[in-house]
Amino acid sequence: MKDYYKILGVEKEASEEDIKKAYRKLAHEYHPDKAGGNANKFKEISEAYEILSDREKRTKYDRFGTAEGFDFSGGAPFSGGGAGPFSGFGFDFSEMPDTEDIFEMFFGGGFPGRQKRRVYKRGSDLEYEILITLEEAFLGIVKKVEFPVLTKCETCKGKGFDEKKGFVKCPVCGGRGEVKETKRTFFGSFAQVKQCANCFGTGEMPNAPCAKCKGSGRMSGKKMAEVEILSGVADGQVIKIKGGGEAGERGTEDGDLYIRVKINKHSVFERRGDDLLINKKISAIDAILGEEIKIKTIEGKETKANIPPGFNLKNPLTIFGEGMPRLGSFGRGNLVINFEIETPKKISRNAKELLEKLKREMEE
Ligand SMILES: [Zn+2]
Ligand SMILES: [Zn+2]
Repeated sequence: MKDYYKILGVEKEASEEDIKKAYRKLAHEYHPDKAGGNANKFKEISEAYEILSDREKRTKYDRFGTAEGFDFSGGAPFSGGGAGPFSGFGFDFSEMPDTEDIFEMFFGGGFPGRQKRRVYKRGSDLEYEILITLEEAFLGIVKKVEFPVLTKCETCKGKGFDEKKGFVKCPVCGGRGEVKETKRTFFGSFAQVKQCANCFGTGEMPNAPCAKCKGSGRMSGKKMAEVEILSGVADGQVIKIKGGGEAGERGTEDGDLYIRVKINKHSVFERRGDDLLINKKISAIDAILGEEIKIKTIEGKETKANIPPGFNLKNPLTIFGEGMPRLGSFGRGNLVINFEIETPKKISRNAKELLEKLKREMEE
């Protein structure tokens, strides 16, 4: 069993502040990016910190003396995942952001005087609902939707600037497209070459923004999407159309479009999974005579069913294979008929006599 307190070099009664302090000190010492760092040791102290800095996990650890079965995936500072050297811990250095970002992940907050990079936003995702009939859900249908949305500026092709007005050398990187950054972080100083954020690595800046979109690369417009709805679609099914949403700023990625399929309530059929339920009125006489009944299916064709003799009309009658198509297979659900027995309102003397005769016969 690992003694997390010992790993961090703190007492069992250590305050949250003490634990944080101890961790910072050790993390500084062992961070693998540093000369003399030790990845295994760093991993160990990070694990200890993760448990002891979380009140709930710490309580559990104190009580059960183990971290086994803890969920490292949720809410933890390390949620990288992947098959790295520390995959058991869900931790992979190769996927880790740079040191500064790690620091932020741990302790929140940035560094004083740190320059915010200009970042253009990807387009927003959109959700759109389409209403279809049960018949359309049965057959499958291609629906066209058109909606107002920010689209890529046609004048500048989304770039946001006027190409014809020419370019100047980027003043930030001097035209190199790269900048060297020396970062003083908690773990030490690091020099890094990065893409110039001002010109996005192109080394030049346009002289003039696009007059049409004022530099955003987008303008209000309309988009159209064709959605293929498969036969047997479920109510509430969501279909994703990648890039079908709002245009991104300055040519960044478009958002996605999510189409939610809503099936209108049908006047005759009630859908339950792949089955279709129907209520059928039947006269008492027909019920006794075991009359053949006719039902119009969802396809609009007529189907016949016989009520078997002795059939209890309280039970539904199932016609197999006349329900909704099963998504992803060739089968179909069933048509389930619920009976409602109607007794005649008026009855002739003659009919009454016959029925009484029948009654006596049945009682014999
Ligand atoms: Zn630049
Ligand atoms: Zn434009």
